[in-house]
Amino acid sequence: MKKVPFVTKELVERLVMRFPTPFHIYDEKGIRENAKALKEAFAWNKGYKEFFAVKATPNPFLIKILKEYGCGCDCSSYTELMLSQAVGIHGNNIMFSSNDTPRDDFALAAMLGATINLDDITHIAFLKEVIGHIPERLSLRYNPGGVFKITTDIMDNPGDAKYGLTREQLFEGYRILKEEGVKEFGMHAFLASNTVTNEYYPTLARELFTTAVEIREKLGISLNFINLSGGIGIPYRPDQEPNDIRLIGAKVKEVYDEILVPAGLGDVAIYTELGRFMMGPYGMLVTKAIHEKHTHKEYIGCDACAVNLMRPAMYGAYHHITVLGKEDAPLDHVYDVTGSLCENNDKFAIDRHLPKIDVGDYLAIHDTGAHGFSMGYNYNGKLRSAELLLKENGEVELIRRAETPADYFATFDCFDEYRSLTARKSLTTKGV
Ligand SMILES: *Cc1c(COP(=O)(O)O)cnc(C)c1O
Repeated sequence: MKKVPFVTKELVERLVMRFPTPFHIYDEKGIRENAKALKEAFAWNKGYKEFFAVKATPNPFLIKILKEYGCGCDCSSYTELMLSQAVGIHGNNIMFSSNDTPRDDFALAAMLGATINLDDITHIAFLKEVIGHIPERLSLRYNPGGVFKITTDIMDNPGDAKYGLTREQLFEGYRILKEEGVKEFGMHAFLASNTVTNEYYPTLARELFTTAVEIREKLGISLNFINLSGGIGIPYRPDQEPNDIRLIGAKVKEVYDEILVPAGLGDVAIYTELGRFMMGPYGMLVTKAIHEKHTHKEYIGCDACAVNLMRPAMYGAYHHITVLGKEDAPLDHVYDVTGSLCENNDKFAIDRHLPKIDVGDYLAIHDTGAHGFSMGYNYNGKLRSAELLLKENGEVELIRRAETPADYFATFDCFDEYRSLTARKSLTTKGV
């Protein structure tokens, strides 16, 4: 499928007068349509709820949009909990799915009344020690180990993942929780990431539902919710077929009706913790070509770099690139598209067929709406970019300003020269 950007050259040319490149821009219309489709796909389940994985795109403006569709937040750290609270999401509308959890994080999660999802059997005692009691509602994260297969295709390798309790620990964990007086029980599992197939959730659901029936038989515990977590992917590549969320919802229902309903577990709420699926396609990184270099290869250097989008450098991930204004031009050039970090993996694309790029062209890097801005960092003294929202009415709103050097130096307030350093006017603007 041809990947069409939601921004045009004309729009970007207008925007750069107020917001210099690079910036991430999000598409409100796309976010809303997708959130609505997800809600409808699981409307058959009375207790259904999506807890947006905050780490994917921790921006309050965007989380507020999702909140209108009944979404809560899935948090895994102290500041993510603070962010949820700030947008008015608390209590059972927060799922706290963390691992290697610090004491303060559990304490804040408990204070906000979040549903806590424990990553390890030892965390039962740890949590009790930190907050002084065991909450009445708790969830356990399950990791069956081995490889996760859909028919014969290996999707991922849970046996190699640090998360969750083994099957034995899971049963032992629920037994302890029951003894400790827990009244509402949940189960969570995240066994494959970025799956571009409609079979992931139904396959996962079958495994978890079967386990839920066994928990009921062996321990007399009826789970209140089953959390299918994240993992529904997006088509980063033009040749990939997007997931059909309606079909996924319908297939999970089939498995639910087949396994849970006959076992008397027809009240189990289904939860999801999607991040990538909720935001990924509805964000783009817009950057300007500032140099071309002809050496052993052909390079285009942009004003964005891996600190703005780490996935290509970190995972070799593919992100489609459109040269704005040249959407229909032939792809008759082969480029490495680079950033300016002193790291040779700072490349948004390697040997990519693109139209001829001229210095000054704007490139739209697709599918940066999740795990894009949020994975940003400050290596090489680079600053985080702005985030913009393209609203349904066509207006563009600044939803996070770009960092300035003053932000970069702010944590040096222990350093004597700090005041003179940040007092200089030049540090409060980028001074390009
Ligand atoms: C990262 C994460 C998610 C979201 O994953 P996506 O691949 O973005 O859907 C959900 N739950 C937990 C616990 C996570 O760590």
